[in-house]
Amino acid sequence: MASNVSASLAKCSNLVLSFSNPSAFAEGFLFVTHHALLKSSAMRSVLLLLVFLSAFAAAESKHESGAKASGSNSAEARTAKRMEAVRNQPPALRAFLLHMPKGGDLHNHLSGSIYAEYYILWAAEAKLCVNTSTLTYVLCKDESEFKPEQRTMRLASDALTDTTLYRELIDAFSMRNHSPARKPGEYQFFDAFNKFGLATNGNTGAMLAEVAHRAALQNEHYVETMFGMDGGIPWQLANQIPWIGDSPEDLVKYRQALLDGGVLRANDAGRQMLDAAEADMRTRLKCGTAQADPGCSVQIRYIFQVLRAFPRNMVYAQIAAGFEMCKVDKRVVALNLVQPEDWLIPMHDYDLHMLMIEVLHNISPKVNITLHAGELTFGQVPSEDLGRHIKKAIEVGHAQRIGHGTDVMYSPDTDAMLKEMATKHVAVEISFSSSDGILGLRGATHPFRQYLKAGVPVAIATDDEGVARSDITHEYQRAVEEQGATYAELKRISRNSAEYSFLPGMSLWADAATFKMNAACAGSSPAKPSSKCEELLKGSEKAMHEWELEKQFKDFESKN
Ligand SMILES: [Zn+2]
Repeated sequence: MASNVSASLAKCSNLVLSFSNPSAFAEGFLFVTHHALLKSSAMRSVLLLLVFLSAFAAAESKHESGAKASGSNSAEARTAKRMEAVRNQPPALRAFLLHMPKGGDLHNHLSGSIYAEYYILWAAEAKLCVNTSTLTYVLCKDESEFKPEQRTMRLASDALTDTTLYRELIDAFSMRNHSPARKPGEYQFFDAFNKFGLATNGNTGAMLAEVAHRAALQNEHYVETMFGMDGGIPWQLANQIPWIGDSPEDLVKYRQALLDGGVLRANDAGRQMLDAAEADMRTRLKCGTAQADPGCSVQIRYIFQVLRAFPRNMVYAQIAAGFEMCKVDKRVVALNLVQPEDWLIPMHDYDLHMLMIEVLHNISPKVNITLHAGELTFGQVPSEDLGRHIKKAIEVGHAQRIGHGTDVMYSPDTDAMLKEMATKHVAVEISFSSSDGILGLRGATHPFRQYLKAGVPVAIATDDEGVARSDITHEYQRAVEEQGATYAELKRISRNSAEYSFLPGMSLWADAATFKMNAACAGSSPAKPSSKCEELLKGSEKAMHEWELEKQFKDFESKN
């Protein structure tokens, strides 16, 4: 549908481009259509078409100036032109974007990143059963005493021979074939995690292998993925230690009680889990052998996941454990609060959760924090609850990055909010398929443009590529098709995903807003960095990752 509209609009673009200021024209028409002329539906249709045409012309004109701005005949300008040539040809655009270097994926939930087809295989191997009335994996139980009509169990392995069960499970574990008329997207999306949950057990290594493999195939060489890694120890302690109170002093005392109770055992559980999962991943990818999978080249870091829809003692114990794990295991680069923001406890305890983080941040200020915040939209929660979480996450929760941030334009002072993010270099992690599937936000209803316009660093991420049936290339494609993103904008976004990663060390950039290279490396050839540049790269994992990305861009652009 969208591509048909684009094609017919493209045919008319000569006519439309004759308008001298298309965006002003579009705005003018919108005003007129809203306020005066809507008596006749025929007139309304004509006006609507003209508004579409002029908006399209505005986008075309912006793309042209984007290509001009990137220089006359440089490799970058040629690459930008090549992307413009395929902008309205989705298959060709996909092929172009697949090869474009995409830096890293900074917002990736491990279990949500797995395609249902893998869960179906793993559930069969684990000899699980499916509750056929809910399409949920369960432990098998004997139903031989039940009447046939009361039996709900089937062997998970049945899906390998029963094509109906196979396709029903894929649809249940993802957004594939989902119809919002049948079930709201948010429910379908989050229910999927419970349905396939049991199949994740013992498969962390296999899951990492899948994520790394897919990332490498798409020219993405860095992933920060989140999952639970505390061995359940914080919750055990939270259940034993009575809650003291919600004040900062009480929270400090409760932290001490957790430490006294042995919360640091979670560090050992986490380390053992990560060691085993990484070893399993490397075996599966055949790393270090002649048949090594491309996924072996992907750097993976972990984000400690805290479940925020639980009672306060349980949430706090997890956050406290997360802070401690980030301090001792370099692979765990940050913590994040997960679970739907609009649920009862995440909404009710939001400010308390931010205070918890602040108290622990004051004790351990070097621990990195990224937070799902403002992943909300109109009608989902009372309107007065919109537009306040992002500010709290930054000012109280000390978030260095914001996940989704889709309600930013509901902030009481949007300009100030966006300015604050830009000035403090707080990046926003945007996942188009997720925000569309969960919140119904796409195209102009997503605040992507407002973020870019305000100079807020934007990184494109996958969120849950398995559930969303997406991948990082597809998210870039949505930025082009739905948001009119130019090549220059995508390149900046890719660089942001390295710059705002939680890799330690100095940046390659002296100025990350203009991407002016650090003096030590400026003028160095990607193939042979100067000795000063080499010194910087050796001393900084982040700069090294950024340098590699620049090499990939040089290589990619030289082919255009
Ligand atoms: Zn997320």
